[in-house]
Amino acid sequence: MKRTEYDAIVVGSGISGGWAAKELCEKGLKTLVLERGRDVQHLKDYPTMTSSSWEMPHHNQIPREDKINNPVVNRCYAYKEDTAHFFVKDQEHPYVQEKPFDWVRGYQVGGKSLIWARQTQRWSPYDFEGPGRDGFAVDWPIRYDDIAPWYSYVERFVGISGSYEGLDTLPDGEFLKAWEMNCVESEIRDRVNSHYQDRKFIIGRCAHLTEPKKEHLDQGRGQCMARNQCYRGCPFGGYFSSNSSTLPWASKTGNLTVRPDSVVHSLIWDEEKGKVTGVRVIDRITKEEREFYSKIIFLNASALNTNLILLNSISRRFPNGLGNDSGILGKYVAFHNYRGTLSARYEGFEDKYYFGRRPTAIMMPNFRNVKKQEMDFLRGYMTFYSAGRAGFGHADPGGFGAEFKQSNTKPGPWSVFMMMQGETIPKETNRVSLFTDQKDEWGIPLLKIDVAYDDNDEKILQDFWEQGEEMLKVAGCVNIRKSDSKQAPGLDIHEMGGVRMGRDSKTSFLNGFNQMHHAPNVFVTDGACMTSTGTQNPSITYMALTVRAADFAVQQLKKGEL
Ligand SMILES: Cc1cc2nc3c(=O)[nH]c(=O)nc-3n(C[C@H](O)[C@H](O)[C@H](O)COP(=O)(O)OP(=O)(O)OC[C@H]3O[C@@H](n4cnc5c(N)ncnc54)[C@H](O)[C@@H]3O)c2cc1C
Repeated sequence: MKRTEYDAIVVGSGISGGWAAKELCEKGLKTLVLERGRDVQHLKDYPTMTSSSWEMPHHNQIPREDKINNPVVNRCYAYKEDTAHFFVKDQEHPYVQEKPFDWVRGYQVGGKSLIWARQTQRWSPYDFEGPGRDGFAVDWPIRYDDIAPWYSYVERFVGISGSYEGLDTLPDGEFLKAWEMNCVESEIRDRVNSHYQDRKFIIGRCAHLTEPKKEHLDQGRGQCMARNQCYRGCPFGGYFSSNSSTLPWASKTGNLTVRPDSVVHSLIWDEEKGKVTGVRVIDRITKEEREFYSKIIFLNASALNTNLILLNSISRRFPNGLGNDSGILGKYVAFHNYRGTLSARYEGFEDKYYFGRRPTAIMMPNFRNVKKQEMDFLRGYMTFYSAGRAGFGHADPGGFGAEFKQSNTKPGPWSVFMMMQGETIPKETNRVSLFTDQKDEWGIPLLKIDVAYDDNDEKILQDFWEQGEEMLKVAGCVNIRKSDSKQAPGLDIHEMGGVRMGRDSKTSFLNGFNQMHHAPNVFVTDGACMTSTGTQNPSITYMALTVRAADFAVQQLKKGEL
């Protein structure tokens, strides 16, 4: 077996791994990124980025056979003919659903950074205080002030568009020009915001270059063109992905090696040295086994895969998974509850239209149980809405002739869509574990996922429906309809936990710098580290935690502590 040594190994090249690579390389560490999927180079490997639907064999639809063979990934709204090559197919990467769980994955260089929806909101001080205060999880070992400067650092490089609002429930960041609301959205916002003291709708914050600055142009990225075809990979680098941003930046340092097709099997625990010394890898294509060694390791394989790697890292010292003296590895998994939606009509403004396909919606930070526990459920939800005119083809589908064509030149009535993003409570019973009866192609046991909603989620759903309907009425909407998607956990694609941060090694896995209590040269900074989920889209928090942990790790390394 060949022996290769680096200063640092990063497992996974998605959103969090890309950041780990950038930071470690910039700080002078020879860094190896191990990525299980194929290589994807910015621009060169975006085959559909400028295609029109009529140029695709199935007009951008997924063929029936694919839907039958891959029911999980087909439930993801972003999985279409133009993006299918960036998503994992169910049949190629099986897992065990103890309860229904839609595990959506992107195995390639760049991971899910190519196919995310790019919504980015900071956590507030209340989100970090909540679990300890209300007692539904262990206390976070950090507070908002610990992470705020790192949010700023990340936001400046990524490029986040947003408006300055001064809300304590959704702190402002370093923003580029905000997107604009259309006339109906502004009307709804004005009416709702003036009606309630504790609620405020604002324009969404997202990782799009509305006004690129020097640091973005230096990355080779340019302005977002509001095409909203981002999931194909952007020809302008208008949205943030590892492929367009962090990985090429890291590469410029000369310290980066990216090794695609490298499936990490487990971490190597050296019984004599009493520490982790490296990583065991199976080549995706040849199935050859190799080992790579380094001083520090960052695990960024995405939340559940990081759990899998740690559970599969078995040694004499750690027979139940690396660092798992407490027995909590794989437990306290949580996610976001997206089940509730509302739709409505808005009458008026028929002479108004709008420009482009804006890549964000209007959002309202959580207003439930923020400063104290006050409802009969724990935590709360963010509310999103958008308004648009029905398509130009809304006219009588049975029509024909000149009159029919003429009617199709007019846009339809205004419709409004509202949705929730609810926090779920991390529970011991919501867990992942190894299914040792069956191994995948690379000899790794399958992951068994045992995660479900509970009564708290039902109550949050009811509250969203009631409050959402009330807000839409206040806004002047009509024909309000509510709907429950009944989607399984997982389809939110915000799965978190299993390797949570905390203050005590008996009840948590990582300390306040994402460092493993029992293997201090291993850092976990993807969604696995999350003690609770908040109500915000999570990835910007993974990025901020990653750069903070990388800074700490390098300092420790220089001091000879690792
Ligand atoms: C359709 C969609 C919409 C989304 N919208 C949003 C949004 O608006 N806002 C938001 O914050 N988040 C959103 N997300 C979630 C977001 O994509 C994830 O939170 C984010 O990508 C997680 O980053 P990560 O680095 O942990 O994982 P990933 O980006 O998934 O990267 C993990 C990488 O690790 C690799 N890997 C896995 N296992 C191994 C192994 N054993 N060995 C080697 N490599 C391995 C994978 O191939 C992958 O490249 C969305 C996701 C999807 C799919």
